[in-house]
Amino acid sequence: MVAEVIINSSVKDLNKTFDYQIPNEMDVHIGSRVFIPFGRKKDLEEGIVIGLKEKSQYEIKEIAGLQPEQIRNEYVELAKWIADRYFCNISDSLKLMLPPGRTTKNVDKRIETKKINSISLAKDIITIKKDIEDGIIKTKKQIDVLEFLMRNDNSTMQDIELFTDGTVAVVNALVKKGYVEKKAKKVERNPFLHKITNRTSNLKLNDEQQVAFESIKDKGKYLIYGVTGSGKTEIYLQLIERNLKNNKSSIMLIPEISLTPQTVDRFISRFGEDEIAVLHSKLSTGERFDAWNRIKDGRAKIVIGARSAIFAPAVDLGMIIIDEEHDESYQSESTPRYDALEVADFLANKFEIPLVLGSATPDMKNFYKSNNGEIKKITLTERANESKLPDVEIVDLRNELANGNKRMLSESLQKAIFNNLKINKQTILFLNRRGFSTFVMCRDCGNTIKCKRCNITLTYHKDEGKLKCHYCGHEEKIATVCPECKSKNIKYFGAGTQRLEAEVKELFPEASTIRMDIDTVSKKNSHEEIINRFKNENINILVGTQMVVKGHHFPNVTLVGVISADSNLNMGDFRASEKTFQTLTQVAGRAGREGDDGKVIIQTYNPENYAIEYSKTQNYDLFYNTEIQIRKQLKYPPFCDIIVVAMSSKEETELNKVSRKIHKYLKQRVIDERFGLLLYSPVPSPINKIKDRYRARLIIKCKYDKRIHDLLTDAQNEFYKMKVKTARMSIELNPNNML
Ligand code: ADP
Ligand code: ZN
Ligand code: ZN
Repeated sequence: MVAEVIINSSVKDLNKTFDYQIPNEMDVHIGSRVFIPFGRKKDLEEGIVIGLKEKSQYEIKEIAGLQPEQIRNEYVELAKWIADRYFCNISDSLKLMLPPGRTTKNVDKRIETKKINSISLAKDIITIKKDIEDGIIKTKKQIDVLEFLMRNDNSTMQDIELFTDGTVAVVNALVKKGYVEKKAKKVERNPFLHKITNRTSNLKLNDEQQVAFESIKDKGKYLIYGVTGSGKTEIYLQLIERNLKNNKSSIMLIPEISLTPQTVDRFISRFGEDEIAVLHSKLSTGERFDAWNRIKDGRAKIVIGARSAIFAPAVDLGMIIIDEEHDESYQSESTPRYDALEVADFLANKFEIPLVLGSATPDMKNFYKSNNGEIKKITLTERANESKLPDVEIVDLRNELANGNKRMLSESLQKAIFNNLKINKQTILFLNRRGFSTFVMCRDCGNTIKCKRCNITLTYHKDEGKLKCHYCGHEEKIATVCPECKSKNIKYFGAGTQRLEAEVKELFPEASTIRMDIDTVSKKNSHEEIINRFKNENINILVGTQMVVKGHHFPNVTLVGVISADSNLNMGDFRASEKTFQTLTQVAGRAGREGDDGKVIIQTYNPENYAIEYSKTQNYDLFYNTEIQIRKQLKYPPFCDIIVVAMSSKEETELNKVSRKIHKYLKQRVIDERFGLLLYSPVPSPINKIKDRYRARLIIKCKYDKRIHDLLTDAQNEFYKMKVKTARMSIELNPNNML
């Protein structure tokens, strides 16, 4: 027999299989992971078998070795489907199905050691990256180890040997050079192990919950549509329990940002930690690897994780649950650009199991489907613990300015905070911009200081005295003279979370405050630390970005202030209103979750906008009915699909050439073959340069089908045929991020 093998390594551009003879004694299937000789390379390459056939038309080599581990058939099919649907190479989509880290080595020898050397970086990452770029560190193995440690600080020697080319000698050499240090320290393998929580048992479901629980049984798609606090999570818990009793696994996805130990605790305290595997991006490679193996061996039957946990090799999968299904983080923004909801749908069909979506503010597309019966809608109308929905007040910021209040906090919000402090209740203030000032401008020439690599203004971070680019991470010292005209008349405008915190401290010097944004949570556990401190130390005011609003449960919070509801509205995306409504509703859901009356104050310059107006009563139905009419009129999803053909290059001229050629190609085909679609001319992307690459795109509005899929595939092949220097092209289907 002959195996069709995808090479899993450097030959990324090849989207094709290579034939290899299967030696008689070798047991090779679809999904087998094999070692093969390839080209003139001395070392064997790793590959994955995705097809079998009798004969090859070529003269072929033999498979040299077989790994014990393999990818299941269904997941090989999934990889093929992903490559086709999201226009990527199968080698890229197959990587999603592999265990985390590099595992071609013998992993059986691995033992869980408790007291070992912890190996970590002795210099900061930026310095090390620079030394690698400048060629000061040359050895490949050393670079490999350093890059691993950048992602996995405090690693064990075992993990380094398992996941990199490094050996003890390589690490010792790095220690000698001062890049790495060893500390004797206990290394925690399971990040949630320290949390022994009290066991909880099932709550008695209310009538609505009971109906939901009972109707979710057979294969199919379900949407649990229920306000925050309506008891969706309790339903998930009991569905998972039912699965467990039937000896089946469950996968539950939650948005990355709400994947806090606090949330996970609710599951651990119901099922115990042995049954649960948690997967998310903040885990080290070793931790993820361990979790993956517990799932694969069937030791952990409950998988909780962010987007990529959908690929966890759960044994006998019985159900997939996706909480906050409208969340943007379920769509990958890098290749493969998959949508976890669609992947879940594929798996649910394949395994003939239920797929359960849950949200208080469903994705327009899914709600539309639930209205026409494609998805079974289950509605929860009341909060489960009988706490009332918070009272929402909308403050018109135009009046504040007119009344001479230049602060970020309106009179109304100031008063509410003051009252809340008096009764010792907690407040959350939400602002979707980090940093202190959001742009720096020269008053003489009007120049704003931009990132050298991206066409985007730099944000002033007062804490560190730096200007930062929020796209590429570039940092520079604060400017005192204008780089254009050398004037010293530099001024800082706009406001982020750092300034908000400063203003709060000034207005309420007696109040304790804590800030949560990317800048304060970058370390591994600080997200959790901030949440725990806010909760346990009863800190008066939490100031933060998006990450404060997702899924947390703070019993003592009775006031939530939204500093500016407008930041999403003006972003030039057809989803702007939907996102605004979702965010505001979610923010409101943080207030008064435990009996006490909650209050929400939303500040805006657009009080008459319907997304803001309807968030006052958190009435999704009203919002939906308005929004769906607009979508229908303007032909936006769910009435059509938006395809973005995104192109970039380090050179503007090349980008122009490529985008014109692709457009010309598409236009010709569309005319010749009478496609019923709207094809727009290529234009610079809203952010037209990121990380030194110029960006342009062309948009197609259509009803996506096989014919259009093939047209796009042809366009992609047309691009591959071009002789390009640095140009890249990707095809994005209904992308969340239109910037
Ligand atoms: P959601 O996931 O919809 O936000 P939760 O499941 O978190 O809602 O429930 C909100 C609150 O109501 C929680 O404190 C939860 O313990 C409580 N709760 C949920 N279901 C019930 C029930 N059947 N009886 C009593 N309390 C419940
Ligand atoms: Zn100037
Ligand atoms: Zn930048």
